[in-house]
Amino acid sequence: RANRLFHPADSVIDCGGVKIGGKEKIAVMAGPCSIESEEQALRIAQGVKAGGATLFRGGAYKPRTSPYSFQGLETEGILDMVKAREATGMPIVSELMSEERIPEFEEYVDVVQIGARNMQNFQLLKAVGKMHKPVLLKRGLCNTIEEWIMSAEYIMAGGNEQVILCERGIRTFEKYTRNTLDLSAVPIIHEKTHLPVIVDPSHATGKANLVEPMMIAAVAAGADGLEVEVHYDPRHAWSDGAQCLTPDAFAQAMAKCRQVAWAI
Ligand code: PEP
Ligand code: MN
Repeated sequence: RANRLFHPADSVIDCGGVKIGGKEKIAVMAGPCSIESEEQALRIAQGVKAGGATLFRGGAYKPRTSPYSFQGLETEGILDMVKAREATGMPIVSELMSEERIPEFEEYVDVVQIGARNMQNFQLLKAVGKMHKPVLLKRGLCNTIEEWIMSAEYIMAGGNEQVILCERGIRTFEKYTRNTLDLSAVPIIHEKTHLPVIVDPSHATGKANLVEPMMIAAVAAGADGLEVEVHYDPRHAWSDGAQCLTPDAFAQAMAKCRQVAWAI
């Protein structure tokens, strides 16, 4: 169902009023890795909106490597994001980790993110295939493009064809960066499928100083959007501070992206 051969036109996915795909405006989802409080969510949402973001991202259910790390504010975090949406008008994107939270996400969230670690959680993919919300499917840490497309098929086969793919870097032998951004995935996804593909330069690099150049490279490569982590105090962020841009740095990076992309 994702195959370009059977569906030559680009799919355009309506994400709570913001359209992603089809060479329309490049969609930028930005916000903190983790939601920490209502005030934090609101302040960052207003900051990224001023910089040109069109969707607000934030994690409330966090897939952390260590069980002793902060696991997310859960429902409270989702409700904080809802407040930020009410204040800014931006649709909200958040990660779903388990089937039992589907009713909550159906009620409150505009775009359901499936994280890299769950890209091949086939039971979860089948369950979101029955949802009535767009799904942002991130590429697994060690998955091929073919496997990633098959995971999109799992969702689409269930009846939910509103799938957006997100390249977020893959594991290689390189240790300087957190992951290796595979930008060639963008034209390959456009060739093989009709689905929109966005790029997450934050998790791909793990380093704030590399985020801006990779944002620019992603839009130049034809990405339909970006997902960027932003925090006003990266050093004290509850997760992923090293890769967070400040709202000012985000706005500057967006200005540079506008010089290479006509529609951001
Ligand atoms: C995230 O977007 O916060 C996240 C955990 O990303 P990934 O699944 O790509 O690691
Ligand atoms: Mn993160």
